[in-house]
Amino acid sequence: MTVSRRTFVEAGAALAAGSLFGRVGSRRQATRVIVVGAGAFGGWTAWYLLRAGYHVTLLDPWGPGNSRASSGGETRIIRATYGPLRVFTQLAARALVLWREHEKRWNRTLYVRTGSLRIKTVDDDRAEQAAMPLLADAGLSLVPVTLDDAARRYPQVSFDGVKKVFFEREAGFLYARDATRLVVEQFIAAGGTYRQVSALPDDKAGGRLNGVALADGTTLTADQYVFACGAWLREIIPEVVGDLIRPTRQEVFYFGTPAGDTRFNDPQMPVWVDSDKKVFYGIPGNGGRGFKVADDTRGPRFEPTTGDRLPTAEGLAAAREVLARRFPALKDAPLLEARVCPYENTTDGALIVDRHPLAKNMWIVGGGSGHGFKHGPALGEMVAGLVRGEREIEPAFRLSRF
Ligand SMILES: Cc1cc2nc3c(=O)[nH]c(=O)nc-3n(C[C@H](O)[C@H](O)[C@H](O)COP(=O)(O)OP(=O)(O)OC[C@H]3O[C@@H](n4cnc5c(N)ncnc54)[C@H](O)[C@@H]3O)c2cc1C
Repeated sequence: MTVSRRTFVEAGAALAAGSLFGRVGSRRQATRVIVVGAGAFGGWTAWYLLRAGYHVTLLDPWGPGNSRASSGGETRIIRATYGPLRVFTQLAARALVLWREHEKRWNRTLYVRTGSLRIKTVDDDRAEQAAMPLLADAGLSLVPVTLDDAARRYPQVSFDGVKKVFFEREAGFLYARDATRLVVEQFIAAGGTYRQVSALPDDKAGGRLNGVALADGTTLTADQYVFACGAWLREIIPEVVGDLIRPTRQEVFYFGTPAGDTRFNDPQMPVWVDSDKKVFYGIPGNGGRGFKVADDTRGPRFEPTTGDRLPTAEGLAAAREVLARRFPALKDAPLLEARVCPYENTTDGALIVDRHPLAKNMWIVGGGSGHGFKHGPALGEMVAGLVRGEREIEPAFRLSRF
């Protein structure tokens, strides 16, 4: 994707004449919203607020999909299997509709449908059994696959020691970094204002936030504020988020497949989740970056601005062990790339979408907990509805649940 630095720096209002959403005069110019953080959550929120007619300013010190951010990875899995958690199945199903809608609108591939293979070496399939009817209700499908069928269909996968296999048909992967940048690019093109600068909440008085203090020493004010700063939320809003979001260090490895061998690329290979003692997952192809393998186990605490991003020998050895066990042809595959990225975990793995208890015009949106990316458009739509006062806060995402 080619986006010049100028496009992202201080871009915006002047482009409003070409707005996708009609004349500037038709906007609710009186209502200004500042969105702090231009990752998946902030970017989509800004987009939907702009669509709703608000005057929106989006701020980020390093830019959408930057390498420090959780949304800065090459790809992210989209799936709706969440055990018995209907709220997430529904959010993912809505997101899938919106990802497809925006692909069409922007004429860009963001979602690659590969299906998702759930490989279980344990007999316990309660999560899948609970999820199946919820997916069906949402118009999606998760089905059991016999071991014979799985082996016939995916000869490049070893099912040794596997007890159960499930396949989620509409699952796949999203081009995460590209999509995150594209959302902001489209936000700007539609008349939104983007500035590359960091922001902190200013004074709260009378039950309201009065502005954000920018790193350049100035203050910006608006009617409503959305803080969607991922792993940084705990330091930006310590009095509320504090330890509710704990960033952890996660390692991701990309391995090289044999020359001309398409067995480990989409469409021949689906995304996969391998539940053994630990949960590993992977994404084929990744637009040529390699065969991705990652451990979903929560790593050590991580500081997202300055944390060390060199992968560990132990992490690589564990990924290689999974390759050797599950994808024998890749046993000695060369490592092409590796990344370290923060999960921003809540204690229960659910999102935080709520008002600051001391400032009713200040929204906190985060806690993606290693699975948030897929929900981006559905979450943006939800937050825009909350800011407009047209929706209720989802109980599972409220701060009061902690
Ligand atoms: C290795 C890994 C694998 C994952 N796999 C999946 C997956 O397969 N499927 C899935 O759905 N999800 C997955 N996730 C989770 C998903 O990526 C995150 O939940 C999601 O990207 C979070 O988006 P966000 O906007 O909340 O945070 P971020 O993308 O981190 O965005 C926060 C933004 O805030 C900005 N910011 C920081 N400080 C300030 C400040 N003071 N002022 C203004 N802006 C600031 C940052 O620069 C950043 O751009 C994975 C995450 C990781 C790390």
